[in-house]
Amino acid sequence: MRPAPLIPLFANAKSLTGIGPRMELLLKKALRLPPGVTEPRVIDVLWHMPTGVIDRRATPTIAAAVPGTIATLEVRVLKHRPSPRGNARAPYKVLCEDETGQIDLVFFHAERSFIERQLPVGAMRTISGRVESYNDRTQMTHPDYIVAPEARADLPMLEPVYPLTAGLSGKILIKAARQALERMPQFTEWQEPTWLAARGWPDFTSALTRIHRPEDATDISPGSGPWQRLAYDELLAGQLALALVRQNLKAQKGRAVGGQGHIRARIAKALPFGLTRSQHEALREIEADMGASHRMLRLLQGDVGSGKTVVALMSMAIAVEAGAQAALMAPTEVLARQHAETVAPLAQAAGLTIGLLTGREKGRPRTELLERLASGEIDILIGTHALFQPDVVFKDLAFAVIDEQHRFGVHQRLALQTKGGNGGANVLVMTATPIPRTLLMTHYGDLDVSRLTEKPAGRKPITTTKVSTDRLDDVIDGLKRAVTQGAQIYWVCPLIESSDKSELAAAEERHAHLSQIFGAENVGLLHGAMSGAAKDAVMAAFSEDRLKILVATTVIEVGVNVPNASIMVIEHAERFGLAQLHQLRGRVGRGDRQSYCMLLYKAPLGETAQSRLDMMRESEDGFLIAEKDLELRGGGEVLGARQSGAPEFRVAEVPNFQELVAAARDDATLVLNQDPDLASPRGQALRVLLYLFECDEAVRLFRAA
Ligand code: ADP
Ligand code: MG
Repeated sequence: MRPAPLIPLFANAKSLTGIGPRMELLLKKALRLPPGVTEPRVIDVLWHMPTGVIDRRATPTIAAAVPGTIATLEVRVLKHRPSPRGNARAPYKVLCEDETGQIDLVFFHAERSFIERQLPVGAMRTISGRVESYNDRTQMTHPDYIVAPEARADLPMLEPVYPLTAGLSGKILIKAARQALERMPQFTEWQEPTWLAARGWPDFTSALTRIHRPEDATDISPGSGPWQRLAYDELLAGQLALALVRQNLKAQKGRAVGGQGHIRARIAKALPFGLTRSQHEALREIEADMGASHRMLRLLQGDVGSGKTVVALMSMAIAVEAGAQAALMAPTEVLARQHAETVAPLAQAAGLTIGLLTGREKGRPRTELLERLASGEIDILIGTHALFQPDVVFKDLAFAVIDEQHRFGVHQRLALQTKGGNGGANVLVMTATPIPRTLLMTHYGDLDVSRLTEKPAGRKPITTTKVSTDRLDDVIDGLKRAVTQGAQIYWVCPLIESSDKSELAAAEERHAHLSQIFGAENVGLLHGAMSGAAKDAVMAAFSEDRLKILVATTVIEVGVNVPNASIMVIEHAERFGLAQLHQLRGRVGRGDRQSYCMLLYKAPLGETAQSRLDMMRESEDGFLIAEKDLELRGGGEVLGARQSGAPEFRVAEVPNFQELVAAARDDATLVLNQDPDLASPRGQALRVLLYLFECDEAVRLFRAA
């Protein structure tokens, strides 16, 4: 339950004056709402951070006003000079004066009654806007503000500038934010006073007030005291939530899971290759972790193609050796099915029973599967997030692997980790995205990490080129030769969202085009809007070499493994982020053939896009690429925040606050060491902080305990 004083902040934004149903829709567009929130709330308005300020503090006389600058002037209205009849293009002018001179207020296409109401002759008005000089007269075109003396105090002398969307004006947001600030309850300080003093940071409410009602132009920048304070609050809430989850997991007596190695030995014998040194090393770490009596939460990081799947299988085998069950969860159905197919022959050789559960398994077969799962007949269940439906009950789940974790949001991650009942599962999270250390800490806290640092032997470097779409015909000629020599080709068209019809149309168009050239029987199409069965059929045809070319949207980005495919063409490569390009390229270079990646772009290339494509040509090192990605566009992309459309941080956007992340983590650790139940006065205040940043799941752990 959210504490009562916070309730007004979490009310619908429509409760603010000036926000009706139409504005609500615009707010929904302009504000970045957290996952699962569909209607903007008051707090979301407060987290909508300005990008700058307009300084209206200069209040010269008319004579002293400098053309080209923003000024706020006190004037008396002298007379109106409407546009001459028959010349609507000429402006409506209003002459005003003070004791030093005259100024013309200039309105184009103005509504006469509006101007007459705003500027009655003889009245005093405060006007603010850009001063101009025209034919030796001082003028102001469309003043930003025209206010009567009694409303003078409402004029924002330092006006925050917000990210907007068409139809949503800054004035609306300013008004909304000011009202929202008035709803702020009295908070008990949750930060250490000494730390605040050392940094010179204001209290929470003052900080937020300074952002929306700045007192200084420098208030609105990530380096300012108020902004830093809020970022630190957000980071501390995040770190505290993660630490709580970890504390909770580790405190729950996990079971020590250990096996004799007999199943692993059989798998190893069935493998057509030996494990790499780093696969062995990762397995040793996982085995030790599983054997310990706390609950395991470990990240297995390995670049695309480094062989994480085998490590997952071997780790799951440990659980089965111990007489328990294991689960492997993939982010997409295609990937879940592929995992099941890869694992099947090995599992058979080792005498393991595998089950597959995705959103597609329904009715009788699903019921049967669940029965076999509950009876313990199934050793390893592979699937999508369908695995976490409430009626999926294991006889004895000891170990869960989550593949390609960055596709899941923070909230899901928390929900997941706290799932699993008594003696619940040890968790291994696998990611192909090499997340830099600093980011790891921001998003996962102090997680145990195993790394696959080398690629399996025999991998040849991939030749990467960038080609302008003007040379499409040359590219296609090259592909014709390659196909005659037996090569298979991925052709990727960007599809940002499955609902994005025009992007889908582009993939369909390219498919039709290539079908004409290569023969319809040789070209397949794979996209997110297809039914699961249709996807399977296409994937199967491609992996059995019945299709030569697979035109796909980014559906194939994650995990797909067809070793004979050696050419990756990425259309509109300039639209992809580096991490995504790297993932896509990782689909080739898996077999014996020399592999190629062609980055097709539409000229002219912007500077960032240029750097991205050049980086791809220069390096195949996922870590280097991830660091560069971070540098080019901040952390969201690396962790897939863009895919989910939701920000992970609202104030503390990486990479501006890396230094604070470490401090927040230490602070969270210290707090929980001294006050594991958050029962002290500071602990109580910190609970409010957790609610404020919507880490409700973490607070709920106290009640479970
Ligand atoms: P990823 O880490 O991207 O998930 P996969 O697990 O899909 O990588 O492995 C990529 C390919 O490398 C697969 O075809 C797999 O069989 C193969 N592979 C994995 N480990 C080794 C190894 N030690 N030696 C040779 N090939 C391996
Ligand atoms: Mg994989």
